[in-house]
Amino acid sequence: MENKYKWFLNINYFLLDLDGTVYLGKNSLPGAQEFIDYLQSQGKKILFLTNNSSQTAMYYVNKLKKMGISVSDHNVFTSGEATCMFLKTLNPKPKIYLLGTPALEEEFKKNGIELTEDDPEYVVVGFDMTLTYEKLKKACIFIRNGKKFIATHPDINCPTEEGLIPDAGSIIAAIRASTGLDPEYIIGKPCKEFIEEALRKIQAKKEQTVIIGDRLYTDIKSGLNAGIKTILVLTGETRLTDLEKTNIKPHLIIQSLKDLLHMLKSLH
Ligand SMILES: [Mg+2]
Repeated sequence: MENKYKWFLNINYFLLDLDGTVYLGKNSLPGAQEFIDYLQSQGKKILFLTNNSSQTAMYYVNKLKKMGISVSDHNVFTSGEATCMFLKTLNPKPKIYLLGTPALEEEFKKNGIELTEDDPEYVVVGFDMTLTYEKLKKACIFIRNGKKFIATHPDINCPTEEGLIPDAGSIIAAIRASTGLDPEYIIGKPCKEFIEEALRKIQAKKEQTVIIGDRLYTDIKSGLNAGIKTILVLTGETRLTDLEKTNIKPHLIIQSLKDLLHMLKSLH
């Protein structure tokens, strides 16, 4: 192993993207289960990060379980939970008007955050698959009247079996079209807030943390924005040729988690 990758030995905290990194659709990627088992056997801390704020952590625990990957809900961090943590740094008892699914509403309530349709302090936009005209109208009126506007993540579309479907970014765009206003904060990848809240959740030290993902402009960028190490895997969206056309440079590029496990074992 080249000396320039010795930093990897000091890594104790692993932030992992899911789709394109651990699995592709319904199937786990080669070596993913072994990689996660190995990290757990070595006492390393794992946190899966997902921008998807329409589902709970348990949804991902169950999805991973079907692939033979056994983790608890403490190992999954959604942009919804990160948004709750972040909001409480702004105000310990924030009053929120939320555009979100029942799962996201539950997440906010679990975090002790009051949801209201009456004089909120903030309007929070998530991946609201239960969006109605009435909800959109209320959000726009609150925002135009000066309520603070926050979004869980910026993704314009979400890939599904039916094709791309409008995600939180498209709802933000609708609000922007009506009000002319953008969110004051967006929490999910590529924003550094998501990583900072993830570090806080698992009490990780920046210099001992790496993010592993398949997208340069979300996973890798969020890690670089937050000042942690970054590893790009080529099992998802990014091709080697994409790296010639970007200034987003990961600390390490590796084919898959299978190869990363091999490298990790060779270092010990
Ligand atoms: Mg991905």
